[in-house]
Amino acid sequence: MTPDRYEAQRRALIDQLRDRGVDDLDILAAFDAIPRHDFLPEAVRHRAYEDAAVPIGFGQTASQPSLQAYSMQLLELTPDDKVLEVGTGSGHQTAVLSRLADRVYSIERVRELSIRAREALDRWRITNVALLVGDGTIGWQRYAPYDAILVAAAAPEPPKALLDQLAEGGRLLIPVGSREMQQLVLYRRRGEEIETVRTVECTFVPLLGRQAWPDPERPDG
Ligand code: SAM
Repeated sequence: MTPDRYEAQRRALIDQLRDRGVDDLDILAAFDAIPRHDFLPEAVRHRAYEDAAVPIGFGQTASQPSLQAYSMQLLELTPDDKVLEVGTGSGHQTAVLSRLADRVYSIERVRELSIRAREALDRWRITNVALLVGDGTIGWQRYAPYDAILVAAAAPEPPKALLDQLAEGGRLLIPVGSREMQQLVLYRRRGEEIETVRTVECTFVPLLGRQAWPDPERPDG
């Protein structure tokens, strides 16, 4: 990769991810290879390598890098995996996922964010990602089942459609709880059973849609 003005800051962020318990070398290399600043609006680019959620417009945020990296580690992704992401947002996490899995399908509710993410992904010549504008709480049946589903917004409980679209052994990671505070919960399909592992506390923007919090822009779903 050609060095850029943010290279030193990006390396410092990678060290921070390591300090926070992310030891999967593929994940660390992917965060190093995908420059977060290029996925953020100009006005907040200087904050790209803070380990913090950063505003991206439309009341949304690009998630905190250490939480993203930790989530990917919990999902135990392999290069053959087919991944569904709900909440494309800036597209940065989508791009990181594209280096860790075979195919990434990503759904975003806000059309303008999806368009911006597509432009950034194209700039980085990322070709194994498909984007959809719509309600991610009902998943993307066309490409199901998925080996992993990563939801970047918080729901009162895991949407049934997403559990239904998990492959055998597939994992769903989603922040579950109230609007103010959640826990990252990992669900794993074992035949007809779903195993549940509760992990860290977190705070995400709400998942708005038919199988989560009501969407004020589409009150009838
Ligand atoms: N991973 C993204 C990033 O790093 O830029 C995080 C984006 S943000 C924390 C969560 C995103 O979920 C927002 O862009 C929001 O518009 C989107 N969202 C909320 N409800 C949704 C739904 N039902 N379907 C798809 N996207 C949704």
